[in-house]
Parts: sequence; structure tokens; C-alpha cells
Amino acid sequence: MKIAVCASEVVPFAKTGGLADVAGALPLALEEEGQEVIIILPQYRQIQDSKFSITRLKKDISYSSIGRGIKAYFIENDAYFNREGLYGDKNGDYTDNLERFSYYCKRALELLKELNYKADILHVHDWQACLIPVYLKTLYAKDPFYKSIRTALTIHNIGYQGLFAKEEFPKLGLDWSLFGIEGLEFYGKINILKGGMEFCDIINTVSPTYSKEIQSKEFGFGLEGVLHKRKNSVFGILNGLDYSIWDPATDKAIARNYSLKDIEEKAANKQNLQELCRLPLEKDLPLFGIVSRLAEQKGFDILAEAIEKICRMKLQLVILGTGDLKYHILLEEMVGKYPKVVSLHLKFDDNLAHKIYAGSDIFLMPSRYEPCGLGQLISLRYGSIPLVFKTGGLADTVNKDNGFVFEQYTQEDLTATIGEAVKAYAHRKKWSGLIRKAMQYDFSWKESAKKYLQLYARAKR
Ligand code: ADP
Repeated sequence: MKIAVCASEVVPFAKTGGLADVAGALPLALEEEGQEVIIILPQYRQIQDSKFSITRLKKDISYSSIGRGIKAYFIENDAYFNREGLYGDKNGDYTDNLERFSYYCKRALELLKELNYKADILHVHDWQACLIPVYLKTLYAKDPFYKSIRTALTIHNIGYQGLFAKEEFPKLGLDWSLFGIEGLEFYGKINILKGGMEFCDIINTVSPTYSKEIQSKEFGFGLEGVLHKRKNSVFGILNGLDYSIWDPATDKAIARNYSLKDIEEKAANKQNLQELCRLPLEKDLPLFGIVSRLAEQKGFDILAEAIEKICRMKLQLVILGTGDLKYHILLEEMVGKYPKVVSLHLKFDDNLAHKIYAGSDIFLMPSRYEPCGLGQLISLRYGSIPLVFKTGGLADTVNKDNGFVFEQYTQEDLTATIGEAVKAYAHRKKWSGLIRKAMQYDFSWKESAKKYLQLYARAKR
């Protein structure tokens, strides 16, 4: 199959979040399955200035290669993409994001023709690429080159929809008739994600449970009706994890490597983390780890309510993350009050993140909603037992055989489950068995890539 992946960020070229990880790893996994793949993304300043080997193809198009032979094409437009950020700067989102990404989408479609790359599937990700299916079925509908191309849309987080004022609609170059309930209109505004959802051939999200949840009012952010209408074309495929980066047996960032064969070596990582965090070197206290954005979505509202109670339990807690100021302040207060219990690191630090996965006993991830989640997949591989709220990708990957799950999104249920984990940790033999089980789960990209191929085949029908 010929596949073109279109995303606004792709590892290793540009990244602000999980979307980039998926858009970079999936093409590699598809190539391993024998498929032909290209990638198309904007040429941001950070790519221009990067160490990647880049070849110029045309005045405004250049490319670099990943995998065995995947070309990543960069669309250049200095006015739009030669900027400090991908989507915005310290003042917020760029005010011309609608123009920037509609330009990207149109140029990506034209590029396919110039390359004579008649893709079987155009796989678009998130709102920034959502005008591609819209343009394909409107502006480009009469061009025979595009006739057989089908589109798949992956929604990584339905909370981000690309909303713009109605007055900007003429900039899209679309007929006003498309500004309607069956098109891009959403409560009087333009909703680009909705346009993609209406016009693509197939839709998926990044876990089976999240794909069902977003069809409900609670999780759909207003788009549940559109999804429900298309429910026979909505699927969920779990993200994979890149085990070449996340493997305690080879991880260079951690104090001592370990694997299923020598799990006891994990203890050296706990001690190292306690030293680093200036926590008492207690072997018998369970060490809880958090690596997360400090945001309500990640469960920090109930965590904040429960934090005082948690700090008085027999445990230690290491937190790494940045986010809402109110949580920074609260957590700093807790460090002041319970310096032997809490260690706080308000920053983004990949190195420390690795050490926390390796050194903690329990990984806390009480997200209110979670499209897929990577933290719990990483912690499983590192034998740090995840404690999660039953939602989205967390519900699909953590259960009582490999972790702790609470089902009421309340501070009471969270605290009770933490208490349960603390008790379970005291049974050391059983705990080792739990670590052993956790480390054996396999969430590699291979299985997910196969599922994407089935999804593409479905879109072709
Ligand atoms: P998100 O919704 O933030 O994308 P995920 O669980 O899908 O959540 O992925 C988060 C990724 O970012 C994980 O790999 C996690 O280890 C990493 N991460 C989050 N916060 C930090 C931080 N402060 N420092 C280092 N890594 C972080």
C-alpha cells in the first residue's frame, strides 16, 4: 500500500507532544510491514536550523529521510513557518493559524500530484491536517489524479479542534455552503476538526475506550453528535511504545540496568533516585512517581484535594512536571510541610523522567481523561506499577493483574486505592510477582501498525 502521513509535528523533526511520537513511529512500523510511506509536514524554523541532512527538491519543497527509505517532505513558506514556535509563542496561539494550516493542507495535496505519488491512503492527524480531506472532496474532487485516494483521520485529543471566527471563512477558499451543520460550522464558529470528521473516509482515536468515550457528552467536547453519526467508521487503535528508547535493560539514563532476569537490580535505581531527591533511603517505603503535565486532565484536581492525606501515609512521592501555577504553588507548600515525603521538580527533564520510571515502585497517573497515555506503558516496562483512573487508554492497558485501578473520579477513591497499593507493597514476594507480570506486557508498534493496515483496508472498501 502507498501511504502518505500528514501531521503538523513528527519525531525527530518537530515535537510539542505525543502526536509527534505517533507520526514519527507509525511510518517506521508501517515500513517494517512492507508498506511504502511518505510524510509531509511544514518546514519550521527549528527544522531549517537542525542537524538533519536536508535535500532541496523545489523552490519551496525539501526532504529528509528516516527509516530505510521514508522521505519526509517539508513545505516551506517563510512567512508562515519560519517562526519561533510551531503553533504560537509566549503571547498565545498565532493569530493566523487558520491561514498557516490551510496553506499547509493545500500545498500537501498539490505536492502529491507533483511527485506523482498516488497514495492509497492519506493519513491525516489532528485539526492542523484536517482540511486535507475537506479539500480533497471539494476543490480537488474533479481532478482524476485524486479520485482513488482515501483518507483516514486520527484524533489524538478531541479537546483541540481548531476553532476560528466565522469571519475568517473566506480565507479557506471554500464555498459558503460548507459553513453549515454538515460541514465546518460549529455554534457559529469554524471548527476545522469537525470538517475533517465530516469529510474523511475513516476516523480513529488512540485507544479503543477513548473512541467510545468521545461519543458521549462527557468526553466529546461538543463533537459527540458528529462522531455518533459516523459511529460505523470510528475506531480505536492503541499507540505503541518505542522500546528502543524505553527499555530498562539498555537505558543509559538510569543508575543500573535491569530486566526480567535480574529484577532485584531495580532496587539500586530506587536508592539512586532517593539520593538524588534527598529523600530518606528507606527500602521498605513504597516510592510513588509522577511524570506529567500538571493539569486537571491529568488528575491534579483530585490529587490536590487528597495531597495532604497522601503525604501523611507511609510512602514517598517524587513529582516531575510543569503546568498550572496553582498546582506549582500547592505542591511547593507540601514540600515545605513534608520534606521527607515529597520531592518536587518543576521542569521538563527527560533524563530525570527515565530515572523516575526506573526508581519508583508505583507510578501515579490518575487522569480524568486520557486518549492513550504513554506514562503507564513506560512504567509497566520499567516495573513501576501503574495506579490509574479507569478511563481511555488507561482502562485499555492497566487492570488489577498489572496495576491498581480506581473507578470513581473522587479524591476518596484515589486515596483509598493509594492505601491499597501501600498495603500490597508490604507483601514483598507478591510484589515481585506483580513487577514480573507488568514488565512482560508488550505494547510495541508492530501490533498497532497491523491494526492501522486493517483500518486503511477498510477505508479503501
Ligand atoms: P500527554 O497528554 O502529555 O501527551 P502522555 O502520557 O501521552 O501524556 O505522554 C507524556 C510523555 O511526556 C511521557 O513520555 C512522559 O514521560 C513525558 N513527560 C511529561 N512531562 C514530562 C517532564 N516534565 N519531563 C520529562 N518528560 C515528561
